[in-house]
Amino acid sequence: MDWSNLKADYERLGSYSAVATAYGVSKGYVAQEAKRQGINPKPEGRSLAIDWSGLPALYQGGMTYDQLAAHYQCSVHAIQNAMKRLDVTPRPTGLPEGYEWTEERRIAHRAATSTPEFAAKSRENLLKRLPSMRGPSANSPLEKLLQAALLKVGISFSTQRVLLGRYCVDILVQQAPVILEADGSLHHLRKMQDSQRDADLTAAGYRVFRFTGSQINQGADVCTASVIEACGLVPDTDPVADIRTGMMGPENPNWRGGPVTVTCEQCGEQTTRNAARLAQKKRFCDSKCYGTWLREHPEASNRRLKMDFTDLPALCATGMSVPGLATHFGCSTNTIIRVRAQMGVPRRKSRAAAAPPDRSDSDTVRAVQ
Ligand SMILES: [Zn+2]
Repeated sequence: MDWSNLKADYERLGSYSAVATAYGVSKGYVAQEAKRQGINPKPEGRSLAIDWSGLPALYQGGMTYDQLAAHYQCSVHAIQNAMKRLDVTPRPTGLPEGYEWTEERRIAHRAATSTPEFAAKSRENLLKRLPSMRGPSANSPLEKLLQAALLKVGISFSTQRVLLGRYCVDILVQQAPVILEADGSLHHLRKMQDSQRDADLTAAGYRVFRFTGSQINQGADVCTASVIEACGLVPDTDPVADIRTGMMGPENPNWRGGPVTVTCEQCGEQTTRNAARLAQKKRFCDSKCYGTWLREHPEASNRRLKMDFTDLPALCATGMSVPGLATHFGCSTNTIIRVRAQMGVPRRKSRAAAAPPDRSDSDTVRAVQ
């Protein structure tokens, strides 16, 4: 493998993947070799094509990173890197020193933060965080009392369901769009939000029932009985309580598809795999199948087989170390050791192996004395 033109090819083609395609090797291999040659991908990659000369002026003119990214049609990361290279001092973030909240400023702040766009953005961020925020707070003792009462009368339900893409409800009855909410102490702090939430859910066709802590503690079955009577619920033949501790499945904003059935390329067996781990192009049920397949398709192995190890014996004879050889050939030390054994090259005599005779000699001498 000839890597001497890598820098030029990389600058011409613009990306590791393009170079990898041109060279007929993997992208990782190119990245490794580029790293070895000190070719930094960030400044010379895709952002090489962008003319950054106007960036300092635009930034000093008050544009934000997001706006600049939209302007240059690149990532915020690329902007940050370009700023670093151009030595642009970032604006200090947060409130300036000595800033005081006057009534005018407060009004201006409220006006800026009460826009629908701002609300949408914070909602989006909240939804990303929400799955990790749930957990111990989900299925509180009050909710558990309601759940037990529902199960006792044989009504199927699920808990912690996300409705309308934003409301995580305590209990959702399965047979009808009925929601039961246990209002703990936090409800008093968020009555406004909860009433808005109830209005939205009602508009979407749900019936929402709220019970206070004392109502539930005094008689959860009375609470559920009132719901059953009001909605005309009937006991399920096989009641199921789907008790969840957080957002699961597609409701979770971080959901990436869950398990997928894949067919092994070698033995044809069907296995389930997490969708997040399906990056490789060929799929195998295990490493054994992959090994068998690779032996039948040596051309698919684009590393060792394409490498030229003819210099290895000569280099070994000069006393080059295994890590040194690995760096020279651009492969792992394991590969060097394996190839060396295959070529029948003797191992370099280590210093440790050479030292002991002297010591044992002196030992014997001492023992004799
Ligand atoms: Zn298989």
